[in-house]
Amino acid sequence: MPRTDTTTLDLTADVVIVGGGPAGTWAALAATAAGADVVLLDKGYCGASGPTASGGTGVWYVAPEPDAREKAMASREGLGGYLADRRWMARVLDQTYENMNRLATEARYPFPIVDGQPFKRGVQGPEYMRRMRAWVKRSGARVLDHSPVLELLVDPSGAVAGVAGYRRQHDTGYRVRAGAVVLASGGCAFLSKALGCDVDTGDGALYAAEAGAELSGMEFSNSYAIAPAFTSVTKTAYYNFATFFHADGTPLAGAASQGGRSVIAGELLRNGTVLCQIDQADPEQQRQMREGQPNFFLTFDRLGINPFTDKFPVTLLLEGTVRGTGGIRVVTDDCATTVPGLYAAGDAATRELICGGFTGGGSHNSAWAMSSGTWAGQGAARFATGLGPARHRRRLAATGGAGLRPTRAVRRGNAERYTGWSDAEQVLREQVHPYDKNYLRHGERLTPALAELDAAWRQLRAETAATGAAAVRIRQTAAMVAHARWMYTSALARTESRGMARRQDHPRLDPAQRHRISVGGLDSLWTRPEPEPAEAGQRLTAVAS
Ligand SMILES: Cc1cc2nc3c(=O)[nH]c(=O)nc-3n(C[C@H](O)[C@H](O)[C@H](O)COP(=O)(O)OP(=O)(O)OC[C@H]3O[C@@H](n4cnc5c(N)ncnc54)[C@H](O)[C@@H]3O)c2cc1C
Repeated sequence: MPRTDTTTLDLTADVVIVGGGPAGTWAALAATAAGADVVLLDKGYCGASGPTASGGTGVWYVAPEPDAREKAMASREGLGGYLADRRWMARVLDQTYENMNRLATEARYPFPIVDGQPFKRGVQGPEYMRRMRAWVKRSGARVLDHSPVLELLVDPSGAVAGVAGYRRQHDTGYRVRAGAVVLASGGCAFLSKALGCDVDTGDGALYAAEAGAELSGMEFSNSYAIAPAFTSVTKTAYYNFATFFHADGTPLAGAASQGGRSVIAGELLRNGTVLCQIDQADPEQQRQMREGQPNFFLTFDRLGINPFTDKFPVTLLLEGTVRGTGGIRVVTDDCATTVPGLYAAGDAATRELICGGFTGGGSHNSAWAMSSGTWAGQGAARFATGLGPARHRRRLAATGGAGLRPTRAVRRGNAERYTGWSDAEQVLREQVHPYDKNYLRHGERLTPALAELDAAWRQLRAETAATGAAAVRIRQTAAMVAHARWMYTSALARTESRGMARRQDHPRLDPAQRHRISVGGLDSLWTRPEPEPAEAGQRLTAVAS
């Protein structure tokens, strides 16, 4: 079993959950309910880490009435480029309905009463995640906070059999030997400072790829959200009620939260300033907004700005795959990946199954997180217990590459002082954050940006060997660079505009590209078209005819 000098904690579990956001906590509940012994590890503090814990969340909660369900499923198919799958949508609607009802009865979440009924189409993130943490602990799962996972461990057959990581508060390493692992570590927002998202650096996808897993939908990863220029709060739905202006106060034609965000990006690129006023919300809607998202208004109130009557500057913050749809490819109903013993849930997994190429405003993401988390927890528990007692006697090998095990000889003494991540982070800032490269995509800009990212990867892979806290940072950097390379490689493979994958050099939807794109690899990348989802394909043909 691999050890590092600083490893002081060795644990054994049936199931390890990586990440304690909505997906990870629901996975932990499902795995313990299935009789598994569970360890949940979070980079931050489970219950307070990640974007859900920091805000309010709409939830795709739809009563099981055929008309309502049909409308809910049909509503996003076009936006998502007809790549979603009705069977998965129906499963998510069923599971979300059940989970939200359990949240009321078993976790006693205080849903507000609207028209005499508990209103379950949204939750306050801090309250939701506080209750999820308490519920997970009551279930008997062990929770280790401030304990980022750094890599997966595999057995001689290549099946995932544990994790290794670092305990920030003890400055020591740890390992957990396990029958199965659920990756619920969130998406990748590239350290853009969007509220709650800086823990989401795509770690799970890197670890999955190192173990041999595939990704899907990575071209649908360029979500940019509107935020006041003076905060990190990206609550985009409210800007559906907004008007946008040039710096001189004249209206910015075509700018809108939905269907006009590229106009905002263009103006920010050209002139650096876009002003906004949420002037289309009536008094009742304003009241509902304040009640729904109190934290949206905090900074406005402190600065004495009334967003409904005053103009204020806005910017666009990259949310990557947190509100994009790409992620680790799942291949079974219980969210198994292509690697035995490895499961994926929430933003770490692809959401194309229910969203296609576009998530739009909220609700689908939280529904996916709680549903896929539930299934992944159940699947991982089944897989682990199915291995029998042998699951804890397997020989383990570490899979981590970039940042941990360089391909070139590096003097150990230099490892802690290595600062290559700051070069790589600079490459990310220059090649991934800018609107004209990642949002307003064009092959002529994507190709050189990808070449820069490839070079950054080669350096990270060849020359870095960090331990302890430095390893956490460099693994995050490696995960973000890997993410960006999968993103741009998939974006170049999709020579059309579909969902949020829009290409200025290929502005039209091409019916011949009605397929998902799988991507994988680390040093050299590959892409592969996946067969179209049959039902959605038929509907698109009907729409086009
Ligand atoms: C501003 C904003 C508003 C949103 N509003 C909505 C909405 O209204 N409706 C909706 O459906 N969706 C919404 N979303 C999306 C929603 O927040 C996410 O889909 C949801 O949080 C995903 O849950 P998750 O558990 O997969 O990931 P996260 O909530 O991101 O949790 C990931 C967890 O993994 C931990 N982690 C990361 N790396 C590691 C590691 N290496 N080791 C251990 N732990 C790790 C993190 O600390 C974190 O606790 C919004 C997102 C944003 C940014």
